[in-house]
Amino acid sequence: MEQCVNVERELDKVLHNFSGYGQQCDTALEELLQYIKGLREELTQAGEMELSGTLSLVLSQCCKRIKDTVQKLAVHHKDIHSSVSRVGKAIDKFCCSCFSDSLPTLLSQNLDSDLGSVGIEGCWQAESQRLLSEVMVEHFFRQGVLDVAEELCQEAGLCIDPSQREPFVELNRILEALKLRDLRPALQWAVENREMLMAQNSSLEFKLHSLSFIRLLMGGTANQREALQYAKNFQPFAGNHQKDIQVLMGSLVYLRQGIENSPYVHLLDSNQWSDICDIFTRDACSLLGLSVESPLSVSFSAGCVALPALINIKAVIEQRQCMGVWNQKDELPIEVDLGKRCWYHSVFACPILRQQTTESNPPMKLVCGHIISKDALNKMINGSKLKCPYCPMEQVPADAKQIYF
Ligand SMILES: [Zn+2]
Repeated sequence: MEQCVNVERELDKVLHNFSGYGQQCDTALEELLQYIKGLREELTQAGEMELSGTLSLVLSQCCKRIKDTVQKLAVHHKDIHSSVSRVGKAIDKFCCSCFSDSLPTLLSQNLDSDLGSVGIEGCWQAESQRLLSEVMVEHFFRQGVLDVAEELCQEAGLCIDPSQREPFVELNRILEALKLRDLRPALQWAVENREMLMAQNSSLEFKLHSLSFIRLLMGGTANQREALQYAKNFQPFAGNHQKDIQVLMGSLVYLRQGIENSPYVHLLDSNQWSDICDIFTRDACSLLGLSVESPLSVSFSAGCVALPALINIKAVIEQRQCMGVWNQKDELPIEVDLGKRCWYHSVFACPILRQQTTESNPPMKLVCGHIISKDALNKMINGSKLKCPYCPMEQVPADAKQIYF
């Protein structure tokens, strides 16, 4: 949100500069016009046709004045350029905070490029268009911008089940409260979902209780009794968090001189507050069966990384006139390294055909344990038998099993 305000602020500056420039232009040009008009009248009245010394002086002065005015206006115009570019930077930052850190690089590198050239024709028609809208709506739900999501639903003619929306509304409400250091909604949620959280080994509820306890410690000796009372909440977590509970209880000894002057000062680290937001988001998403990061953000970031390389390869393909190399179906013409952040599962390349396996050509495990792609398997069938290219055991092709990565 802060980035958004920044963009607006920079935009206001540009508009202000621009209207100031317009006024300055009008005044300066008007003055110049009056001056030249006056000069012309003087010249007509004087009726002099020959270029006397005085006249040439007056005319060269006039030229100088015109030049100066134009120069002054040009300098001012340049100033506006810098404020316009500041708006661009603010937008970059805004995009960065919303989507991906690679977007500004993409924009600056490819602002003039025709991104459409690497698109797939008819990619966003009918059914896929609806899917895209649904993914966008889910993304906005996740971001907590419910009004935008609902507007999109209406405009795209989508019918989103309210039950799909509810969990996001609740998550955002709790997260907003956590950001304001209000632990109550999160604690209530964690208690309600305790069993499921415990089953996935979550330490969310314990962390929330620790923070409440630490907050009491910050109040000094006045809160001693309350803090001791509150410590009872740690009981269910004694098994998994014994060490942490010992540290928290040990800090009570230093209540009189203040935790900030004790070896327990690390308990007051403000990073714990941002950590708790992350822990809550991670655990709540996993409980709801959602990925922590929005699928749209992830795909968008991946696209931003891949596009420059794709634009380059497309240009090369066109230059060398080797069309048809890239049919844009289910495979890219080059390998694009998206970085470890985008690794979600292993990939398998068939050792026989040297191709990555796909849904239609999945990896198959032979009886002997060697794995090859389905296409390779089909190519190697001899009659009703198959000979493993590695061991080489003879077997029945139907005994091979599909492997899932
Ligand atoms: Zn084998």
